[in-house]
Amino acid sequence: MSEAGPREADPADLVILGGGSGGYACALRAAELGLSVVLVEKDKLGGTCLHRGCIPTKALLHAAEIADHARDGAKVGIRSTFDGVDMAGVNTYKDGVVGRLYKGLQGLVASRGITVVEGAGVLEGPGVVRVGDDRYAGRHVVLATGSYARSLPGLDLDDRIVTSDAAISLDEVPRRVVVLGGGVIGVEFASVWRSFGAEVTLVEALPRLVPNEDEFCSTQLARAFRRRRITTRTGVRFAKATRHGDAVTVSLESGEEIEADLLLVAVGRGPNTTGHGFAEAGVPMAEGFVTVDDRLRTGLDGVYAVGDVTPGLQLAHRGFAHGIFVAEDVAGLDPAPVTDDGIPRVTYCDPEIASVGLTEDAARDRYDEVHTLTYDLAGNGKSQILQTAGAIKLVQAGPAGGDGPVVGVHMVGSRVGELVGEAQLVYNWEALPADVAPLIHAHPTQSEALGEAHLALAGKPLHTHG
Ligand SMILES: Cc1cc2nc3c(=O)[nH]c(=O)nc-3n(C[C@H](O)[C@H](O)[C@H](O)COP(=O)(O)OP(=O)(O)OC[C@H]3O[C@@H](n4cnc5c(N)ncnc54)[C@H](O)[C@@H]3O)c2cc1C
Repeated sequence: MSEAGPREADPADLVILGGGSGGYACALRAAELGLSVVLVEKDKLGGTCLHRGCIPTKALLHAAEIADHARDGAKVGIRSTFDGVDMAGVNTYKDGVVGRLYKGLQGLVASRGITVVEGAGVLEGPGVVRVGDDRYAGRHVVLATGSYARSLPGLDLDDRIVTSDAAISLDEVPRRVVVLGGGVIGVEFASVWRSFGAEVTLVEALPRLVPNEDEFCSTQLARAFRRRRITTRTGVRFAKATRHGDAVTVSLESGEEIEADLLLVAVGRGPNTTGHGFAEAGVPMAEGFVTVDDRLRTGLDGVYAVGDVTPGLQLAHRGFAHGIFVAEDVAGLDPAPVTDDGIPRVTYCDPEIASVGLTEDAARDRYDEVHTLTYDLAGNGKSQILQTAGAIKLVQAGPAGGDGPVVGVHMVGSRVGELVGEAQLVYNWEALPADVAPLIHAHPTQSEALGEAHLALAGKPLHTHG
């Protein structure tokens, strides 16, 4: 990494604060467009997603899937046994995946001629970022400092009360775990640990798991978790956690007490916006997030913000899209704004949840009339082969039998995350059921279920009962 960079006398086109998904995508696209870029990163290029988020957790989920396959071999006539988890081996595998991607990313950034500055940057004002004693001037500055795992007041983190940052690198499988928070991160870890053999209790204060998803997804997931013997407590608030020896007693406001060897605090992520000079420089903020307009401008001259520091979905691919948008905007390409509704969302627990567009409730708020259709994966050959339960729900604007666009797609089942690519094309191209119905889906694939759902919505159901 280079410590040298344009100083105030020689401003770069872009100075980017933070080298996570949003920051590095912005840097790569800007360099591709011939812009000069200084990328300031205090830790490791790749940020949360690569080192503490998407990639390590999905490696854990893959190991968990293999544990389940070993345990369930007899269901398909294969003699196999699950003899336990070697966490050192799991961590070596996971760290190998992260390490290879990290090396690749470093090479990519170097090959584009981006100046990487190691250190914590502070915004001193429009166009100026300080790192230690050096000042870097930019015609534009991009704030991309990401987010951190939130905790709750009075809950002190230690070796038994952890957030996802520590949970990705445990050196043993806890026997009993309480997961506080039934959002995307909570349900993913609950799923991993259950597959690894732990007794898992998931506590969510709101009335349902994955509360940001369509209620249909929550119901399907709750049913699947019940079958997997993951205990869930919804609609009940956490009261306190008490350490005694190597164990934790988790008390709920209902009076229930749960003994655990580990408590995962997965109560959401807050914006990492303090201590970097943002407020002092006059960057507009609300509840700690940097507020931006639809072109990701903060209102402070030449200063943009991307990714998790801005209000909205906290997803790596949203960060990528934001970063690319800003690079293209600065280069004068007039890109179309990124809207959260069109961003695909996947929760990678077993079963997976994948969705894009509006939930039924949100669609009812936006349209006079809304129609829904649910296609059960029981009718899908590949899902039967995979032995997964689940369903796909389509939300259509307008009345039943009408020709309104599909404004929401919600899917639950093993591997449905891979179907969200097609679902997002349907949503983002504002496809009508009649547009999708004639498109042929390969047999036997799970993608057929999406095709079948659209056939049914277009009034010509094939493998649909009733
Ligand atoms: C457990 C977990 C699982 C996840 N799984 C998924 C998933 O499967 N799919 C998905 O899409 N998203 C997932 N996410 C969310 C995803 O990781 C984030 O949305 C994404 O990383 C946000 O990118 P970002 O660039 O905004 O911030 P970050 O990735 O957090 O990057 C910010 C960077 O800025 C650096 N930085 C901070 N302050 C300074 C400073 N002052 N100076 C210099 N550098 C600074 C940090 O070191 C960091 O590298 C997951 C998150 C977690 C925690």
